Amino acid sequence: MHKLTLKELSAQLQARKISATELATLFLDRIDASDLNAFLHVDRELTLAQAKVADSRLSDNNAGQLTGVPIAHKDIFVTRGWRTTAGSRMLDNYVSPFDATVVEQFNAAGMVTLGKLNCDEFAMGSGNENSYFGPTLNPWDKRAVPGGSSGGSAAAVAARLAPAATATDTGGSIRQPASLCGVTGIKPTYGSVSRYGMIAFASSLDQGGPIAKTAEDCGLLLNAMTGFDERDSTSLQRPKEDFTRALNDSLQGLRIGVPKEFFGAGLAADVEAAVRAALSEFEKLGAQLVEISLPKTELSIPVYYVIAPAEASSNLSRFDGVRYGHRAADYGNLDDMYRKSRAEGFGEEVKRRILVGSYVLSHGYYDAYYLQAQKIRRLIAQDFQNALAGANRQCDVIMGPVSPTVAWDLGDKTNDPVANYLADIFTLSTSLAGLPGMSIPCGFGQGEKNGKRPVGLQIIGNYFDEARLLNVAHQFQQATDWHLREPV
Ligand code: GLN
Repeated sequence: MHKLTLKELSAQLQARKISATELATLFLDRIDASDLNAFLHVDRELTLAQAKVADSRLSDNNAGQLTGVPIAHKDIFVTRGWRTTAGSRMLDNYVSPFDATVVEQFNAAGMVTLGKLNCDEFAMGSGNENSYFGPTLNPWDKRAVPGGSSGGSAAAVAARLAPAATATDTGGSIRQPASLCGVTGIKPTYGSVSRYGMIAFASSLDQGGPIAKTAEDCGLLLNAMTGFDERDSTSLQRPKEDFTRALNDSLQGLRIGVPKEFFGAGLAADVEAAVRAALSEFEKLGAQLVEISLPKTELSIPVYYVIAPAEASSNLSRFDGVRYGHRAADYGNLDDMYRKSRAEGFGEEVKRRILVGSYVLSHGYYDAYYLQAQKIRRLIAQDFQNALAGANRQCDVIMGPVSPTVAWDLGDKTNDPVANYLADIFTLSTSLAGLPGMSIPCGFGQGEKNGKRPVGLQIIGNYFDEARLLNVAHQFQQATDWHLREPV
């Protein structure tokens, strides 16, 4: 049962082949038996109470497609009942008085929450090694990182501890862990998913999205989690849409842009081979490959690592030990309390970003760094528009690798922040442009050491083209079975 997709589980529930309570119990037992450290907070009673409500909705014929299906939430979405820590000591014992909009939406749909998932502290990282609660392990190879920051989300779905998970992507944190764990994830257009109750890292980039086994499941989840929210000032006012509407469209004549900058030095040979094989598969499905150029790709790393820390330094100023969060036990005056509480509450990477962010925003440096980065951000977005929009558009979607390598070993990049930052080279530009992007499994790395480490294919589209991305991914998943492979 745990191997089924969300769509299949839904059918089992509707046909009364299994109850929501049985299903939740099955997954809770699997979570208990797991040693991946994917879950930070589990509460059987709370979960089973939700399952009971779902069961009565199912028997009252008051159920939707998601009712009774289990889901787990990245520990960056606030939840009533379950603690919310954002992977930080700062929020070690924090329990929110309200649910994030996304959580509220899934609750309203009748989904059953299995618990909260491990992540890098305040979503800052690419390997899930920056969590105060220790790293999540990659279920394909426990010596490897699961990717980050939504490492718990990707690992839980890959290990079949949950059929679906929420995640957030600021610079790649849905796509990159999905890629490294061999599961499917989509970051929708910026503004599609409410950020209310999603603990803020970099507000102009943060965007929630789902991780699941298939593109079809991701579409069903997006249907529930998108929509206007007046409590989020950047939420988009758009009519509700069915993201699964185009799943079965033919790919005949689809033009796939292949950016040459995504295949240069730095891309590991095994990743390139798997991605190129996937591109050939798309040709068999009737698509046509077009070489394109996204010349500013390289600049996305310095631009992102100016803008994201700048916004983080501002967002994280709220953690001062006064209203909530960690407060030092011993302190002198008020300043001393702030200093000690923040020094104890935040980890290394978070402090590094606050320092960088405060620096680039300070008088005299603002123009040189922050303003400059904003200008280049604009040019990066323009690169994509040149390829995807206008009279001279070259392609319908863009494809390439998600990550330059397969999952690396735990500890390999721990003491080298820049090595971590470089791993984001193919995901950052999409985030800076606010475009939708997804990752689908397309193979495995080669060589004995990396033998069973998954490779993800990235699919990028123009604004609001999620239904097409899901169509393209679904057609690939009908023709191949990479998404059904499981770690043993
Ligand atoms: N790895 C990137 C960072 O460390 C992206 C993280 C994210 O998308 N949350 O900021």
